[in-house]
Amino acid sequence: MNVLFVYPNFNGSEYISLGIAYLSSRLKKDGHNTKLLDLTFFRSLNDKPKIEEAISFSPDIIGISSTSVHFDYALEVGKYLKERCDAPVVLGGPQATVSPDRSISEKVIDAICIGEGEEALAALANSPERTDIPGLWLKKNGEIIKNSVAPLLEDLDKLPPPDAEIFDLDRYIQTRDYLLDFISTRGCPYSCSYCINEKYAGIYGSAWHKVRKHSVRYVVNAIKELKKNHPTIKAVDFRDDCFAADINWLKEFASVYPDEVGLDFTAHMRPELVTEEKCNLLLVSGCVAVKIGTESGADTIRRNILNRPMSDRQLENAFKIIKQAGMNAFSFNMFGLPHERPSDIMSTLKLNRKVQPDFFSFNIFQPYGGTHLRSMCIEDGLLDPNKKVPDDIHTKTILKQKQLPPIVVRFFYVFAGPIVFFPMHPIKSVLWVIKTSTKPLHGISRVIFPKWLKRYLWHTMYYKPFTKVK
Ligand code: SF4
Repeated sequence: MNVLFVYPNFNGSEYISLGIAYLSSRLKKDGHNTKLLDLTFFRSLNDKPKIEEAISFSPDIIGISSTSVHFDYALEVGKYLKERCDAPVVLGGPQATVSPDRSISEKVIDAICIGEGEEALAALANSPERTDIPGLWLKKNGEIIKNSVAPLLEDLDKLPPPDAEIFDLDRYIQTRDYLLDFISTRGCPYSCSYCINEKYAGIYGSAWHKVRKHSVRYVVNAIKELKKNHPTIKAVDFRDDCFAADINWLKEFASVYPDEVGLDFTAHMRPELVTEEKCNLLLVSGCVAVKIGTESGADTIRRNILNRPMSDRQLENAFKIIKQAGMNAFSFNMFGLPHERPSDIMSTLKLNRKVQPDFFSFNIFQPYGGTHLRSMCIEDGLLDPNKKVPDDIHTKTILKQKQLPPIVVRFFYVFAGPIVFFPMHPIKSVLWVIKTSTKPLHGISRVIFPKWLKRYLWHTMYYKPFTKVK
């Protein structure tokens, strides 16, 4: 069978979808052919040559993996392809899992896949007439057949290595400053209220909270192969929700990865899990930066709104340990949160000022579908349920809050950099203000910051994953 994947990541960040990469390799294992229509680098949705090339593949199934932000693009492209190819459209990814009823109600969609999709899609490709495939909802004779969710795959190594090559990998690697995206685990033990993880835990129960790991051998072999085929790769960005949660796995990784792969890497960690022992192992493995979700510096917001019951002290310690070990520490933050006050935002900035991260991001909260926090926003009258998360997700709030009007949110968005970095890093502070104040003015911003200059400033001033701490 020919399976055409669509990645409707139009206007989105330049990350490959590891979900599609895993689906593709799983289908290839059963002898199917796969191809990708990737909208990430499209200048307009109507890129005729690329779309015609996809149609000439004569797909038997069109598999779209979409977030809720890109769902409209998914529908538009799906409709066009379906008219031209006469193949069923199967929707997967977060949109299908978070809003199954809304997704299957769309005329263009013939089936949706809820939760992890490798086995479900392989079963459909192997036996297209089957209607009892776990994980799939299908339309049949005007009816919707809702099958129960498939059990989680326990042994991740049973999956063939993700088919990252289905993407224009060299282009992604170059755009991402020679970083390769990879993942070594699935699942997360936590339940932050703004995260889709909670939705998956609702579907799979406690099994979702158990982190499933690839073996070190699987990870090392897969990255070695990609490095051989793409010698420009400089480093790996591990996209695991909680990398290095298991100390024994990390010890084995540290004994193999540096000799056999030898690429620098970055990884996410939960602040509570940062220890000296883990950081030392990360360092000898080649880790140059650890990313920490600080999210809020206000204890009550962290505990009561975000469901992240960690103390300021734990956060500060995490940054201290990472830096002392000799790695860069990145801090990811959110503001514009429900019931947040300006003084809470100041607490976040003060905490960051205190820990002085090597990279700092400050994003306006967006209430993604399927999360507990979105429901809270609707229940508390802060959000119109029909309001969609905008494409340009980082520049404005869609919540209506008296104590935190949009103009105040905008003020903090523009001046967060100087509050955290001035006077220690004056250039960083000024660049932050220019960058954030011109971001909504796309036309002007493009003139002031042509792409090459943006990349230069971004990589020299903010994001330095390869700059080892001296
Ligand atoms: S730790 Fe990260 S992945 Fe896990 S629930 Fe929280 S935000 Fe989601």
